[in-house]
Amino acid sequence: MDEDFAAQRIKKLSLFEAVKNALFSSKKNKHKTLVDQFAYPIGGTGMVYDKMKTFIEQNGGKVLCSTPVKKVDAGENGATSIELMSGEVIPFDHIISSMPITHLVRNLPNVPTDVISAATDLKFRNTILVYLKVEGVDVFPDNWLYVHANDLQMGRITNFCNWVPEINQDEKSTIVVLEYWSYNEDEIWNSTDEELVTLGKKELRATGLIKDLEISQGHIIKIPKCYPVYGKGYKEPLQKVESYLSTINNLSVIGRYGSFKYNNQDHSILMGLLAADNIVNNQNHNLWEINTDYETYQETSTITASGLSVEE
Ligand SMILES: Cc1cc2nc3c(=O)[nH]c(=O)nc-3n(C[C@H](O)[C@H](O)[C@H](O)COP(=O)(O)OP(=O)(O)OC[C@H]3O[C@@H](n4cnc5c(N)ncnc54)[C@H](O)[C@@H]3O)c2cc1C
Repeated sequence: MDEDFAAQRIKKLSLFEAVKNALFSSKKNKHKTLVDQFAYPIGGTGMVYDKMKTFIEQNGGKVLCSTPVKKVDAGENGATSIELMSGEVIPFDHIISSMPITHLVRNLPNVPTDVISAATDLKFRNTILVYLKVEGVDVFPDNWLYVHANDLQMGRITNFCNWVPEINQDEKSTIVVLEYWSYNEDEIWNSTDEELVTLGKKELRATGLIKDLEISQGHIIKIPKCYPVYGKGYKEPLQKVESYLSTINNLSVIGRYGSFKYNNQDHSILMGLLAADNIVNNQNHNLWEINTDYETYQETSTITASGLSVEE
């Protein structure tokens, strides 16, 4: 892996600091990687996007869901239109793309071969989410647990009831999700839903976390390409693709797989807001720079009883 991966995820956390935190935990001066509080919408993260959709529609905009885009058309005047998978072509003054950067580049007209080849070097990893309904409450106290065990294939377990209790709506059961990370060609990615639910049930039981509680239901969601892989040397091909895309007028790329950045949601939303500011207010924010400053990220906000407050 490239060192950027660790820089973003664990921000100069030393073994000494981790041990010190375990022995003498205090709320003050806590390392950012070891925070034990975070703000989360009561109805789940989808609330944020539903509100955005309503706001856009109330202001005369249109949001088209389940409408896949085949390609962006660009010529001497820069990006001018998009073509949907249905074949419909829609003209635009400016196009902001958050589709996988590799898909965007491969389908643009007249891309130099070295740029196509650079885009081919950028790899994404998939996630399989195995949701399981456990018949019991207060199953385990953590929000999520990373799993490092040779005999288990899952990488992380999340217990949503511990994010916000309201999400469970007083049910007497608990929804947990197990995550399995894989590439397209891996056997697990090509397993059926039934096989994956069986695997998830077996592995959750093997952790000992749910003791003998019944697992009554399972549900699978497969998310392709959701992790940009910060492999060693990934910046070189990315830089080449960035430079090429920067030459196309009226085209901005944003988002986790749109700009090949290991974004959290706030990064992706910020990219969208700054892209809009560039267009509407003729600003010149460099969107590629977002999510590169790993040290100061999240330094300026604190959690309060009612949500987040930003320190000036
Ligand atoms: C398992 C998991 C857990 C996570 N947990 C957290 C967390 O706790 N906190 C946090 O802040 N972030 C978390 N993230 C990261 C967060 O989900 C992403 O940072 C965020 O969703 C990125 O937003 P985005 O708009 O860039 O991309 P996405 O949310 O991936 O949106 C891109 C959209 O584009 C659509 N699309 C793709 N191709 C096309 C096409 N050709 N035409 C039309 N549409 C297309 C996709 O279907 C998708 O809906 C998590 C991610 C995963 C996978």
